[in-house]
Amino acid sequence: MFATSEIELDQSALENNYRFIRSLIGPDVQISSVIKGNAYGHGIFEFVPMVQAAGVNHFSVFSADEALEVNNISPSSTVVIMGYIGNEELEWAILNDIEFFVFERDRMRKALDVSRKFGKKAKIHIEFETGLNRTGFDKNQLEDVLDLLSGNEEYFELKGCCTHYAGAESIANFVRVKSQIKRYNKLYKWMETKGFSAETRHTACSAAAISYPKSRMDMVRIGILQYGFWPSKESFIDCIKLSPDREDPLKRVIKWKSSVMDVKEVSTGEFIGYGTTFMATDNMKIATVPVGYSHGYSRSLSNQGRVLIRGQRLAVIGIVNMNLLIVDISECPSIEKGDEVILIGDQGDNSISVASFSELSNQLNYELLSRLPRNIPRTVINQKQLSNQNND
Ligand SMILES: *Cc1c(COP(=O)(O)O)cnc(C)c1O
Repeated sequence: MFATSEIELDQSALENNYRFIRSLIGPDVQISSVIKGNAYGHGIFEFVPMVQAAGVNHFSVFSADEALEVNNISPSSTVVIMGYIGNEELEWAILNDIEFFVFERDRMRKALDVSRKFGKKAKIHIEFETGLNRTGFDKNQLEDVLDLLSGNEEYFELKGCCTHYAGAESIANFVRVKSQIKRYNKLYKWMETKGFSAETRHTACSAAAISYPKSRMDMVRIGILQYGFWPSKESFIDCIKLSPDREDPLKRVIKWKSSVMDVKEVSTGEFIGYGTTFMATDNMKIATVPVGYSHGYSRSLSNQGRVLIRGQRLAVIGIVNMNLLIVDISECPSIEKGDEVILIGDQGDNSISVASFSELSNQLNYELLSRLPRNIPRTVINQKQLSNQNND
C-alpha cells in the first residue's frame, strides 16, 4: 500500500443509517442523497454505488463537475445541481437530464435558449428566498420568473420548489427557521394560485428533517446524517429523546485508519513536537502516526484530537504537523510500531467521530470530512454480494 492511511466504507452502516432516516421521516417522503464535497470526503466514485445498493437513486450535488462525476458512474440516476453551473455547462446539463436549481434570471434565460435550440426541456428547481439571504428569488423576482415560465411551458419542467434553512441544527435559529418554513409555504401557495405547481417541494437538510417535521414536505436532502454523523449535539438530543434506549442510532460509514510509525519515550519537563504547546509533565511514552494536515487531519486538532489504538481512546498532543501527528500512549505502553490507528470510526467498543473531540463543534465534521484527500485509497466493506440486492 503506497499510502500512509486508508479509508474503509461500510455498506451495512450506510443501510443502517437509511433505515433510521426512513423511520424518522416515514414511508412517503423521498430521500435525496447529498454528495457534494466528494460525498463529504467519502469519495463520490465509491459512495454513489453504495447509495444505490441501499435503494436510493436521487443525488444532490453542488456543481456541474460533481454532477458529471455522478453521471459518468450512473447515467440513469437523478442528479440535481444545487449551486454553481456555468452558462457554458447548461447545455450539457439539459441534454443529459441533469436537474438544477435556478435562483437568478440569467440562468433561467440561458436555460430557455438551450432548451429552444435543442427542443429539450430544462428540468428546474425554483429556489425561494425565505430568509437565509444567500440565493433564491423573493416574491417580486418570482413574479418575473413565473411570467417567463408561462409563455414557455414546453421548455421547462418544474421539478421542484426549494429553499434552504439558516442553521436548523441550532435552537438559536428557531424563530428564523420557523419563519422560513412559513414564508416558503406562503410563496408556494401563492404560486399555486397563479396556476403553477412543482413535482416536489423540498426544503430540509438533515437537521431540519430531524427537528422540524413540517420542513420534510415531499423530499428531504440528506447529507451528514447518511454518513453517520450528527449535524449538532442538539439534533442528536432531538432524536434520541424519542427513543427510550438512548443509544446512537447512527453508524459511521467511514473508517479512516493508519498505523503507528514509531514509539519513543520522553522525559518529564521536555516539550514535545514543534514549539512549546505541550510539555511532558511526567515521563511519557509517545507514538507518531504518519498523518498530518496535508492528509486532511486538521491542524485545529492540535492538542485536541483523539485516536483509537488497541481499542483505547488516546490524545493527540502537540501541534499536528504537515505529515504526522503525535499521540500520548503513556497509559498503554505496550503499543508498538505497526499497530492500527483509527483516526475516524470504530475500534473495539470505542468510536471516534470528529465531533466527539472535547470542545470542538460538529461543524468540524463537515469540514474535516470534506477535506479528506481524494488520493487516500478507499475500499467498500460489508457489501452484499447478491445480484438482487436492489429488490427488497
Ligand atoms: C449541504 C446541503 C444539504 C445537506 O445538508 P446536511 O446538513 O449535510 O444534511 C441540503 N441542502 C443544501 C442546499 C445543501 O447545500
